[in-house]
Amino acid sequence: MGTKGRSIVGLDVDELIKVLNKALADEWLAYYQYWIGSKVLVGPMKGEVTTELIEHATDELRHADMLVQRIIQLGGTPILTPAEWMKLTNCGYDIPSDPHVKKILEQNIKGEQCAIDVYDKLMKMTQGKDPITYQMAFEILRDEVEHEEDLQGLEEDLVNMK
Ligand code: FE
Ligand code: FE
Ligand code: MG
Repeated sequence: MGTKGRSIVGLDVDELIKVLNKALADEWLAYYQYWIGSKVLVGPMKGEVTTELIEHATDELRHADMLVQRIIQLGGTPILTPAEWMKLTNCGYDIPSDPHVKKILEQNIKGEQCAIDVYDKLMKMTQGKDPITYQMAFEILRDEVEHEEDLQGLEEDLVNMK
């Protein structure tokens, strides 16, 4: 922990760490949802959608990395056990029990829309109070907005194929 770095944060740092850990739980679940979705996927445009899902999975894992780095920087302890993921998550986990491409896209779009909310709120919470976390939330939000648009684009292509 950087003590001076922590002291300039104009927020309850322990509260902020809790929010960051909740986002960390979301990112791991999003990672797995994309990753396992890319494996079980069936239906039209399978190749194209699989590529996109794997790309997004990689992004979610990078987001998890960014969050852990910031949590440690603030003197917090990142989630140490997967058992915490389902307890702390904001966005939950949608089991891809129906592997059809349409359903998988639907589930992941819902996840992205929730993630957009999470980082929009984090930006509002840290604005003018913690520029480092604010910048991180901005970078992640930019990816999540892109993810949503990518998936909705694929969904549209799917509809137009018929
Ligand atoms: Fe993410
Ligand atoms: Fe995402
Ligand atoms: Mg993409």
